[in-house]
This record gives sequence, C-alpha cells and structure tokens, in this order.
Amino acid sequence: MAIFDNHFHLRPTGLGVAAAKQFEAAGGTALMLTHSPYDDLPVRRAEDYAAGYARTLDFARQVRTATRLKVFVALGPYPVDLLPLRESIGITAATDVLRSGVDLAGRHVAEGDAVAIGEVGRPHFPVDAEAWRASNEVLAHAMAVARDRGCPVILHTEDPTPETFREFAAIADRCGLPHNRVVKHHSTPLTRPEENHGIVPSLLAKADLVRVAVGGGPFFLETDYIDDPKRPGAVLGPATVPRKTTAWIAEGLLTAEAVARIHADLPRATYGIETD
Ligand SMILES: [Zn+2]
Repeated sequence: MAIFDNHFHLRPTGLGVAAAKQFEAAGGTALMLTHSPYDDLPVRRAEDYAAGYARTLDFARQVRTATRLKVFVALGPYPVDLLPLRESIGITAATDVLRSGVDLAGRHVAEGDAVAIGEVGRPHFPVDAEAWRASNEVLAHAMAVARDRGCPVILHTEDPTPETFREFAAIADRCGLPHNRVVKHHSTPLTRPEENHGIVPSLLAKADLVRVAVGGGPFFLETDYIDDPKRPGAVLGPATVPRKTTAWIAEGLLTAEAVARIHADLPRATYGIETD
C-alpha cells in the first residue's frame, strides 16, 4: 500500500535520516522532502540558495541510501526569508533574491533533482502592504517558472478561505499554470471544487480535518514535520501519516479507495510520481 507524506522537513540538528526511518517503519513509502531555511545557512544574497538547496538534496540522497523510501524533493525560497533580507538590503533587492531562489529551483526541476517549486508564497502571519505585494510578486514568478518547467508549486501562505483560493486561482490563470498544479500546504479542509477552484489542498493528518475533507475532491495528507528538537510538540511526528492512515481505515473514516486516491493517484496526477 502506498503511503505518502506530502510535506516533510529534515535538518542537521534534528533526527535527520532517523525520522525518515520512523516513517518507513510505520508503513510509509514516499515523502515530499521540502526545503526550508537552515539556521546555519542564512540567505543574505541570491547565491546562498545554492548551499541550502544542496543540503536538502543531500538529505534526500541520504534517506534513499538508508531506506527503501521514494524521496521526492521540493525546492524554493521560504516566504519569510523576505523579511530579514528587506531589513538588510531593501525591498527591491530582497525581492530579487527570492526570485533568484525560484529560478534556481526551476533549474533543479529541469535537471530532475526536484519535482516541485516550494514552499513558496507569503508569510503565514500578517505583514505590511509592501511585504505582501513583494511576496505576491515572488509567488506569481514561481507559478510562471513552474509553468515553464512543467511542474507544480507548493504554497506556504496564511490559512486559506474560499476567497484566498479564488485569488490563487486568478494568479495561476494569469501565469498560465493549471489549478491542479497548485498545492496548498497546511490547508484548511476545503476540498470541494467550488471552494478551492481545483487547487489541491494538503491537510495535516488530523482526524477533525479529514472528517470534513472526505466527500469533497482530492486532498493530500502531510505532517509538516520540522525535525526541530527545540519544538517537539510544534508539529506532528514523522510516523503520523502512516499511523493515522492505518487507523482511519480500521475506523472506517477512510475507505481503501480513498487511501489509494490520496496516496497514489493524486501524487501521480499532481507531480507525475509513483509513491510505491
Ligand atoms: Zn514546511
């Protein structure tokens, strides 16, 4: 049975490969290893994304060597990177640095190292109008590069409402990116197409979210595992997606068909990947 976690981070100060082994031991078969900033590799200029992405790609290789998991990679400039950069070099140069991070991610997709551009978007907390505008500019650039590279984008933003989904759909339309190539990480359980406009929600593996989501359109499951020993309770543990999926089948919350849709059919349709 394919079991896919759509949003998973590893860092050198955390469990690293051992976290992926916990996922595998619980029945997991595939991961979307998603880039996020490393404390010891701050982004001060465009070139700094190369070192950060290289580390994420190296983690993917380590996990492939140490496990039988399929490891897929998403690379992109984390939206919050914009704020400290603006303090040091100003909004225009900061925006250019993030745009360069998108371009480099697109080159890794073209080379086959990564299957998506993400997580990109805008800070998940309120920011001033200037940062909001610049973030939306980077977001649109990411969608345009994704269109050119033929890959999806994975969005990190505030929690979406139907109105937010409409906005993302409009930006995707302007960029020529199909809605089903836009994945909303850490989504609200809005799975009906009239609520999400065909943008693909990815939900934390929590029963209260899944109970609302089933019966609508397709959705991913994720832990958003951050591999940070300083914040052990901040997110779901690395084995949560396989454990919960197994439990939800037993409880009747998910049918075998629903599980196949979530863990095999949707990853294939969205990213072109095989998860088992
Ligand atoms: Zn994340």
